[in-house]
Amino acid sequence: MPARSDALSWITATVKNKKNGAFVGGEWHRDDPSKSAHLIKVINPATGEILCELRESDKSVVDHAAAAALAAFTSGPWTKWPRSERAAALIKIGAEIRKHHHELAALETLCNGKTWAESFHDDIPESASVFDYYAGWIDKIYGETCPVEQGFVNFTLRESVGPCALIVPWNFPLLLACWKIAPALAMGNTVVIKPSPQTSLSMLRLAEIIHDAKILPAGVFNVVVGGGPTGEALTHNDAIAKVSFTGGTDTGRAVLKGSADSNLKSVTLELGGKSPNIIFGDAKNLQAVIDRSFQAMFSHKGEKCSEPTRLIVHRSLHDKVVTALVEKAEKTRCGDPFADTTDQGPQCFEGHMERILGYIKAGKAEGAKCVAGGNRDTAGDNAKGYFVRPTIFTGVTREMKIFQEEIFGPVLAVSVFDTEEEAIELANATRYGLAAGLYTADADRAMRVSRRLDAGMVFVNRYGCYDFSSPFGGFKQSGWGKEMAIHSLESYTRRKSIWFAVAPN
Ligand code: NAD
Repeated sequence: MPARSDALSWITATVKNKKNGAFVGGEWHRDDPSKSAHLIKVINPATGEILCELRESDKSVVDHAAAAALAAFTSGPWTKWPRSERAAALIKIGAEIRKHHHELAALETLCNGKTWAESFHDDIPESASVFDYYAGWIDKIYGETCPVEQGFVNFTLRESVGPCALIVPWNFPLLLACWKIAPALAMGNTVVIKPSPQTSLSMLRLAEIIHDAKILPAGVFNVVVGGGPTGEALTHNDAIAKVSFTGGTDTGRAVLKGSADSNLKSVTLELGGKSPNIIFGDAKNLQAVIDRSFQAMFSHKGEKCSEPTRLIVHRSLHDKVVTALVEKAEKTRCGDPFADTTDQGPQCFEGHMERILGYIKAGKAEGAKCVAGGNRDTAGDNAKGYFVRPTIFTGVTREMKIFQEEIFGPVLAVSVFDTEEEAIELANATRYGLAAGLYTADADRAMRVSRRLDAGMVFVNRYGCYDFSSPFGGFKQSGWGKEMAIHSLESYTRRKSIWFAVAPN
């Protein structure tokens, strides 16, 4: 496939030869060659082969990136650009992503393992479009005039926040970063992005593309590379004014702590999930319900935060639904994510595969019945990669680990219910509250149950909808704040209240 060879050539020409990591202040960061750096191995999860090594950004590199972002914010030309130029820059970034669509999709599939179709049709087009969407918002953000006592005029200004640290996970490497970069730049901030160590290449390539196209002034867009310690150095850095984080709930706590222990930078968190999907006995068009429930759960090999990992199904439909889901799971072809015949790629990295297998073991040990999968897929060449068969457990009860804990892989836990009350209780019985779905033909029930589900997003009769114009984010331990629409823009601005006395006094 030409896209794969383009991506591999770029890795050889740019990354391997220079052993580079960070992209700071408009150039690849040059480490002191006498200084040894920790090297991150970037591994193709389909084959276990090392694609390249990246120099991990240590504290000094992170400090350099944060200082570059601060300098670009305080004394560079960026914040003085007219709004129309800023909007044009965002549109150009979207256009450059489209121009490099094939190569970026290939980098995503090489490092993450998601299928070519998923990278090509989902991740990359959406990464481009979010820049167009936020370009349109730039001149539509207003402050307010406040109804204060006579004698004063009081209004608010919406100002840029400053240098923002954007820390993202490996499941949608470019897309989730672009969800943050576009609104952050739209509001005139500068950014330091930290992708996951396993999946940094697409973001490094994007930094280079933006630089080569001369879209942004140096220092506006910086990328550092590394895992926890690099992220920690960012969250503790006093030059950073805000952290927008997407990742696990426990890491979210560490991010908050980093902010609390430094300059109390503002924090937004998009965290983990264990989302329920309720199928009531009166659900219409059961085949469509089954097809969508399966697709929403197992696409992107189950590595999605809002996927419906807990199926809560009415007893009258349980056997029929489970039989159909098992049939689909058994037909799923795991394999080379670039091949047209592949339905499911490998899990993103070996440690993650082991973690998923650990949960499968726990499910079996706790007495749930494994009715599909439950093991690695080692057929043919798959033995070298990190493939896990789509797995379905039935008889899952609320005290089990596979009911309570986020697995973040292709493992579905099915529980049964008799009454509406029981379905709601089961749905709400975890520490998470990211999303929830329900299928019913009864509009009154749909409304009643939607209101009682403790989740930031509720999907009625179609699990998993999203649109840039609708808020994305969870309740409880699934997050703080919302992304998308105007909500992202609010989090990348600060509100200043200005008082004018009508006459000096
Ligand atoms: P993770 O929490 O391990 O890592 C996320 C990011 O944080 C990575 O870039 C990582 O290097 C960095 N990091 C790790 N330790 C850090 C620290 N102490 N300080 C600062 N940064 C640190 O998550 P992951 O395994 O990469 O991703 C999976 C998790 O992400 C799942 O829990 C999933 O639900 C969640 N997620 C949530 C959403 C959402 O929108 N709610 C979307 C996608 C993924």
